Amino acid sequence: MKEFDYIILGGGCAGLSLAYELEINKKLKDKTLAIVETRNEYKRDKTWSFWKVSNHNFDDCVIKSWNNFSINSELGSYEVVNNEYPYQTIDSGLFYIKVLNQLKQNKNIQFFKNTDQLNLNNSFIFNSIPSKGNYQSNLWQHFKGVEIETSKDIFDDGIFNLMDFDCDQRDNVHFFYTLPFTKNKALIETTWLSKLDDKLLNDYDIQLEKYIKETLKIKNYKINYQEEGAIPLFYPLNKSEKNKINIGSAGGMTRLSTGYTFLNIQNHSQYITNNIEKIQRTKAYHIGKKYEFLDNIFLNVLKNNPDKMPKIFLNMFKASSKTVIKFLSNKSNLIEDFLIISKMPKFLFLKAIFKIYD
Ligand SMILES: Cc1cc2nc3c(=O)[nH]c(=O)nc-3n(C[C@H](O)[C@H](O)[C@H](O)COP(=O)(O)OP(=O)(O)OC[C@H]3O[C@@H](n4cnc5c(N)ncnc54)[C@H](O)[C@@H]3O)c2cc1C
Repeated sequence: MKEFDYIILGGGCAGLSLAYELEINKKLKDKTLAIVETRNEYKRDKTWSFWKVSNHNFDDCVIKSWNNFSINSELGSYEVVNNEYPYQTIDSGLFYIKVLNQLKQNKNIQFFKNTDQLNLNNSFIFNSIPSKGNYQSNLWQHFKGVEIETSKDIFDDGIFNLMDFDCDQRDNVHFFYTLPFTKNKALIETTWLSKLDDKLLNDYDIQLEKYIKETLKIKNYKINYQEEGAIPLFYPLNKSEKNKINIGSAGGMTRLSTGYTFLNIQNHSQYITNNIEKIQRTKAYHIGKKYEFLDNIFLNVLKNNPDKMPKIFLNMFKASSKTVIKFLSNKSNLIEDFLIISKMPKFLFLKAIFKIYD
């Protein structure tokens, strides 16, 4: 059996971000690290976007960044001007190349396909593999996106569309999301906030084609890239143990109201790296109890009043773009939290609070 000081289970976004952070901060000069990852090859499989409210290591993997964005509902389109925090999009393919090139320079780091040859007892483990469970009836953000290319210049690449609710809701919350990378290339996603047990919602290709042709009025296009996924809007039941920390989605790094995870993973990696010498005695990292509480209320409102959500999202962004961005990126102060809460329909939110404590 092989022994390592550290073992990272799952070499995806969180596992590789942590390994990279440890490596560039020279924490693996005299320590050994095994990364256990089942995939055979790394290629672009996700497009990570977020408001850059804090620094991270991957500015050179950003394919596009915007200041302004719009939100559409059947009531019309609302444009948000945001000069403070750019919205960045990272190509996971570029991220994997950058991280793997850096890691292969250190002989103390080795990759494995499984844990068969590893002694897990004497190592500190960072786990990013979600626990298996029957979570179908929980709330998920599930989606499919296509990157399309048109022969003519069609898109305004100076502004992206965060949410277009002016579409078939089917008693759930549904919106389209459009990221124009250039004037003739854009990622368009159909996104649902719902349980996973209603397979009728999964006709993503039909939804996308209809939206591209009928709403965006694009008749001729080719698809360059596709991605599909489901982000849990609940915390998976991954247990923390004495010699183990859960990271990534498995470690509760997803903001439940939005699905945003990437920047929280980077902050968690920095926290672990700063404390690596005393990791056994280090307090667990949390996005924040306040956000957990508020997101649970928000999701309760969403579950029971899906039809009200487009208006609630719109009102939130009308409050103050800087405040909402900070709130959704877990950087808001108490005054900003109150400003956001004041924009919510009071009766629905009070009902949801009572439901949580029921
Ligand atoms: C398509 C998609 C788009 C997303 N877009 C955004 C976004 O725009 N912004 C944002 O903030 N978040 C986004 N997310 C959410 C989140 O940022 C990503 O899911 C992110 O990849 C989570 O990182 P992770 O390391 O927890 O999981 P992953 O990146 O999925 O890594 C887990 C790794 O574990 C490996 N693995 C699984 N089982 C085993 C096993 N038994 N043994 C060994 N290895 C195993 C997998 O192959 C994988 O590489 C998106 C998610 C998806 C699915």
